Amino acid sequence: MNLRGRDVIGSRAVYGAFATVLDAVGRTPIVKLNRVSAGLTADIFVKLEFANPSGSMKDRAASFLVDELERHGKLKPGGTIVEATSGNTGAALAMVAAVRGYKCVFAVPDKVSHEKVAALRAWGAKVVVCPSAVEPEDPRSHYSTAKKLAEDTAGAALANQYHSAANAEAYYRSLGPELFAQSNGEIDALVVGLGTGGALTGAGRYLKEHKPAVQIVGIDPVGSVYYDKFRYGRDTRAFAYKVEGIGEEFYPGALDMKVLDDVIRVDDRECFATTRDLVRHEGLFCGGSSGAAVAGAIKYARARDKRENIVVVLCDGAEGYFSKVFNDEWMRENGFLGGEGTVRELIEAKGARAMVTARPDDTVRHVVQTMKQHGISQLPVVGDNDRLYGIVAEVDVLRHLVTGEGHLEGTIEHLVESDYASVTPDTRVDLLQGVLADAKIALVTEGRKLVGLVTKIDLIDYLSRKGGLS
Ligand code: PMP
Repeated sequence: MNLRGRDVIGSRAVYGAFATVLDAVGRTPIVKLNRVSAGLTADIFVKLEFANPSGSMKDRAASFLVDELERHGKLKPGGTIVEATSGNTGAALAMVAAVRGYKCVFAVPDKVSHEKVAALRAWGAKVVVCPSAVEPEDPRSHYSTAKKLAEDTAGAALANQYHSAANAEAYYRSLGPELFAQSNGEIDALVVGLGTGGALTGAGRYLKEHKPAVQIVGIDPVGSVYYDKFRYGRDTRAFAYKVEGIGEEFYPGALDMKVLDDVIRVDDRECFATTRDLVRHEGLFCGGSSGAAVAGAIKYARARDKRENIVVVLCDGAEGYFSKVFNDEWMRENGFLGGEGTVRELIEAKGARAMVTARPDDTVRHVVQTMKQHGISQLPVVGDNDRLYGIVAEVDVLRHLVTGEGHLEGTIEHLVESDYASVTPDTRVDLLQGVLADAKIALVTEGRKLVGLVTKIDLIDYLSRKGGLS
């Protein structure tokens, strides 16, 4: 045993050397935030997972995923590990592969920074870059490509971080106990960005077993599907966002939403501004999803305004994002530096008109009358306790009536659909253009409450009044 309590080789030359780099995974430091968290009642601590040997938290999962493949005889000596990855799982698997003598092939989406692709190649992996702008089931997606590569390559096996039970299990056995021990059990909330959900599910489960009052908080980027699913049980459509490694367009088996107490939403601009602050005001050389997690933790702390200890996981390092988050030109091109106002200002600029909504048990007749009266073509549907059900759109009402499927006295419940984007009052107006290119309408929610909505014409109005359109 060495000072870190791990098995080491019996070398007399170097006291405490680990047998392989894989034994050096974990035991990462926890550091208190100071300047970025100034003014909060809670203390925020960050766990430096970028200090793991391959550069991210995923080092904890990789050896468990490979062990699982070996145990089931899916991976034989000299075989090939295949995975769909946004980069970090790939690097971690490549490190395991180097030690244990496997080859690696990774399918990555084209939104992944070229630094991360270059890093995977540096690890000796074969990398296939796939389009991001397709559905997960599309044969061109990185998910489908990885599956196909695993099937078609002799001696290959899919590590399957999205669905393998070994993913959450790894964090149950390593990250969870470490957090509990390092905080002396005085951790009140754990905050992690949700990618596959494995880290938060595993570590969260362990912490809950040892301290039932602990709050497990997931962070989800605007554009991903987790937030609406957790809050409202609704399946929404994903749309594009830039932060890497977190958010999803489907629900991976690795995520158990029952472990979560809260999901907080952050947009790209907040993620990247906070990432830069962490590097420049705290000296923490972290990546975009770390900024997302801290931005979410700050919102969480502000809303609760309690003396408590919040621990946030910083998943990876800054070196994967030099061409993006740390490149002013890229930041400006994407509207993340300077510029426009927020959705809150846009809603306020629309004036204090009360928002018109429908209830799920309203009749079609009533909804048609409301649409006519207010000259609008879609309504948010809100039930008891402000629960958002979705939207009802004029075109669907029309189809319902002309096809003779339904009549005016029926309720609108089955006409409620989810073809909307969901944003927060803090979402920047410049992000809305992309959002509304994909969705009919953007619903603005704060906590559980629907606080506004934005249509394409609202955006045009706002921009033309601000002189943004000429
Ligand atoms: N941040 C980054 C940068 C990541 O690569 C990942 C893993 N996809 C996460 C956060 C989230 O981890 P998990 O998949 O365990 O939810």
